Amino acid sequence: MQSGVVAFIFIVKIKGETDWFCSSELSLFKHCQTVRAATNKQELSRAEEVRESSSLKKGNQAREKGGIFGQGGRSKRDLLMDLDLGSLLHSLIPSWNSVAVLGVYVGYLAIAGSILPGKVVSGATLQDGSRLHYRCNGLLSMLLLVGLLGVGAQMEIVSATVISERGLELLSATFIFSVAVTMMLYVAGRMSKDKGSSLRPHVTGNLIEDWWFGIQLNPQFLSIDLKFFFVRAGMMGWLFINLSVLAKSIQDGTLNQSMILYQSFCTLYILDYFFYEEYMTSTWDIIAERLGFMLVFGDLVWIPFTFSIQGWWLLRNNVELTTAAVIANCFVFLMGYMVFRGANKQKHDFKKDPKAPIWGKAPRVIGGKLLASGYWGIARHCNYLGDLMLALSFSLPCGISSPVPYFYPIYLLILLIWRERRDEARCAEKYREVWAEYRRLVPWRILPYLY
Ligand code: NDP
Repeated sequence: MQSGVVAFIFIVKIKGETDWFCSSELSLFKHCQTVRAATNKQELSRAEEVRESSSLKKGNQAREKGGIFGQGGRSKRDLLMDLDLGSLLHSLIPSWNSVAVLGVYVGYLAIAGSILPGKVVSGATLQDGSRLHYRCNGLLSMLLLVGLLGVGAQMEIVSATVISERGLELLSATFIFSVAVTMMLYVAGRMSKDKGSSLRPHVTGNLIEDWWFGIQLNPQFLSIDLKFFFVRAGMMGWLFINLSVLAKSIQDGTLNQSMILYQSFCTLYILDYFFYEEYMTSTWDIIAERLGFMLVFGDLVWIPFTFSIQGWWLLRNNVELTTAAVIANCFVFLMGYMVFRGANKQKHDFKKDPKAPIWGKAPRVIGGKLLASGYWGIARHCNYLGDLMLALSFSLPCGISSPVPYFYPIYLLILLIWRERRDEARCAEKYREVWAEYRRLVPWRILPYLY
């Protein structure tokens, strides 16, 4: 996932679009231009000096080989790239303000998650027969925070654009926080003497691997289940980044159809996520993955900051959509939502009651364990197909002039194909001949007739 941040910086530099991510971006961009202008002047005068001196000292080949800056033949382009990167790295240094924003956000979620009412759901049965219990009050926590921030913004206590103005700083503050938290998790995990499935340390002895994948399955802090907490923080963070980007576009007077479509689709998706938060308790991440840097970084940094790329991009790019394009975009979203939610709900209902009707009929069940009706009779991971269509619908409002806003659907396609392969292997081992029978009946993995 570290490569994610490197890739991110790389993407920020694609086509010189250093200015689409943060809105301190504008000042950063201006700063870059000033530096560039200054550098050009500096270069010119230095070039003059060199020219003069080389004409005075004809034959001094060594100096010429050293280039106009005497830096081993580095070109002007290389130097400007360094300066752009330098300015970019500078804007990544978190200020106390961004640390405070992050601290208040994490603190609020910890308190709200512990005290607000919510349905208590039992998690999957662990190896030792124990079950964790999750209080699903994410929706209430989120709506309350939206309300509080809305009132705060009205009273001018908080700025609605604070996130959009400090995008890169917040990104790096969150990254540093993720590293710090996972180092603590590593130490706590190594010291744990617990024998239960949740907290039993799983140590390979390889420091990097143990830190990356984590040591404990469900570590807790002050009775808060950290894995559930971080995924909630990430999904909610995505909404708050989007809302701040929306506030910025209203403030700048650039709000348009594309931004409204993007914001509406994402908000519906995130609201839906928290409405069905209990479904999260039976997902692969919660059940099977230990809590290490991979998951913490994925939840806290990757989800909010990369899933919102389209919003940042729309802040700086104007897109005109035709009516047909808007209708097609809404269609992709609605179809995606129907398949995604329908498939996940069918599986969830089936696990609770294997006789529950699917699409009004008794379900077709293989070996008493696997559902082969409804979406699960069309493809073995129809839910991934729905998610991919949704991801595409979040990018389509940006048009097709740049690949940058398509980062999320492309990433998700790669992730879900990889995940489907891993899940397939796991299920083949767990269900054996029942799985083979399911594969025979439902030959398609994700997209019927194609994959
Ligand atoms: P699934 O919800 O598809 O869960 C897979 C598990 O379901 C299998 O391991 C098996 O577990 C069970 N299962 C598989 N087939 C059947 C069947 N026919 N009948 C009954 N049970 C079956 O996978 P994920 O947890 O990976 O994904 C959950 C959702 O989260 C998906 O919609 C996905 O798109 C989304 N997601 C989104 C991501 C993003 O970044 N936006 C990232 C990852 C996931 P068991 O052993 O319990 O039977």
